[in-house]
Amino acid sequence: MDAPDSDPHGFKRRGVLFVLSSPSGAGKSTIARALLADEPELGMSVSYTTRPPRPGEVDGVDYHFVDLETFREMVANHEFLEWAHVFGHRYGTPKAQVWSVLEQGRDILFDIDWQGAQQLHQLAGGDVVRVFILPPSMAILRQRLIDRRTDTMEVIEARMDRAANEVSHWDGYDYVLVNDNVQRCFECVKTILAAERLKRSRQTGIIGFIRKLIR
Ligand code: 5GP
Repeated sequence: MDAPDSDPHGFKRRGVLFVLSSPSGAGKSTIARALLADEPELGMSVSYTTRPPRPGEVDGVDYHFVDLETFREMVANHEFLEWAHVFGHRYGTPKAQVWSVLEQGRDILFDIDWQGAQQLHQLAGGDVVRVFILPPSMAILRQRLIDRRTDTMEVIEARMDRAANEVSHWDGYDYVLVNDNVQRCFECVKTILAAERLKRSRQTGIIGFIRKLIR
């Protein structure tokens, strides 16, 4: 397998499992989209969900939208790396796509909640980078959810309740950022990814280079 192009020396390295979590409305999707557009070596894990699509969401791009029966079958067939109940719906990370991205020597981005981050961390023996994005305040979070115009006020209040719960799991993450400026927050996330790629433990191919250096 070829090493990722982003590595100027062409060393092989182990792909990064990169988790982005946040309460909904904290800006995670915007940052995830910008990161994917900017980082050709980063693939996205597209989850399966039983939640109906929101206006503008595309099946196979934002999620794979499936009915409860299909989701249950996938659970029974062990097709998920992890899955969880969120807002009364089920969400799961499919194994197949994750393997195929990692086999290409690329990194993979997960937009999953704290339950998924925890499960993935256990499965991968701790070799997961977990980033949590906080809103600057709960009032700003509520306003962002209202401005998004995708949910009723009832759903927004439910999301606000859940946001407080989600934030209480901040200590299950390696990095915690406040999204008070989306561009700055995006730059921070990029920096974290760049640093994690360079970790010695991930640069599995560097040993050959070191041997040549000190020969
Ligand atoms: P939404 O319905 O707003 O797209 O997502 C609701 C929440 O579910 C978000 O916090 C999102 O990160 C999380 N989520 C999406 N896909 C998955 C998944 O496959 N597993 C887990 N555990 N959470 C997910």
